[in-house]
Amino acid sequence: MYNQSEFGNLENYLLEKKLCKKTSCEQVLNTYIFTGAVEYKKHRFKKVSLFLINIFDEKALEIMSKMFFLFCVIISLITIVNILSNGYGDWFYITGIVFSVISLIISLFIQNVLEYYHDTFCKKCGKKLACEETGEPVMKETSSYGEYTLIVTRHWKCRYCGNADIRESQENIFAEQGEMLPEVSLKNIECNKCSETGTLVEIKKPDIKEIGRQRLTRRYYKCTVCGHEEINESEEIINRRKHIG
Ligand SMILES: [Zn+2]
Ligand SMILES: [Zn+2]
Repeated sequence: MYNQSEFGNLENYLLEKKLCKKTSCEQVLNTYIFTGAVEYKKHRFKKVSLFLINIFDEKALEIMSKMFFLFCVIISLITIVNILSNGYGDWFYITGIVFSVISLIISLFIQNVLEYYHDTFCKKCGKKLACEETGEPVMKETSSYGEYTLIVTRHWKCRYCGNADIRESQENIFAEQGEMLPEVSLKNIECNKCSETGTLVEIKKPDIKEIGRQRLTRRYYKCTVCGHEEINESEEIINRRKHIG
C-alpha cells in the first residue's frame, strides 16, 4: 500500500516539491508547515449554473434544493413501506427508486449551483456573478504532534466594484491524522543517510488528506543511528464504492 521507494530526505523533498508543485516546508519546533500553490477553483456545469443564477436568487435555489431532497426522502419512504407490505408490483418500486435517485441528483446539483453562486457573489456591492478568482491560491498545511490542519486561501475580485476578498476554508478536503505503522513494517527500510536497515522509527502520526478520489499519506521518520529525518509521501486512489457497500 505504501510506496517505500519514494523516500527522500527533507532537503530533497523540498527541492523536488519546489520544482514540481511549488510546495515548501518549514519546521518550527515540533510543527511542520507546508505551503503550496493550488489550482483555481473549477466549476462543473458552468453554463447551466449561470443560467439558473441569472433567473433565481439565493433563497429560491435553497428552497428548490431542499424541496428535491424532501421529494427523495418521501418517495423512498413510500417505496420502502410498499416493499414491506407487498403492495403493488415490481414496477412500482422500480419507479420509486428511479424517482428518488433523480430527486437526490437534482438536489445535489442545485447545491453545486449554490456554491458557484456564493463564490461569485460580491458582498460589497451585492451583485451576483461578480467575483473572479485572481492571484495565486495557496494551500497551507500545519502538522504538529497532536494536530493536522489544512486551509486553502483564495483571492477573489469583483468585476464591478473592484472589491478584493480573501477567503479561507478547508473546502471539500478531508484531513486527519492517521495511525502509525506497526514496527514490523519499518524493518526493511533503509536509512538514506547511513544506509543502515531497520533503524528508522516513525516520529509522529501521519498526515492524511483526501482530495476527490485521491488519498495522500505523509509519514515522518527518524533514523535512530544517525538522527537523519525523512518525510515520505504516498498516493493512492480511493475506491468510493468500497465505502458505500
Ligand atoms: Zn462588487
Ligand atoms: Zn541513518
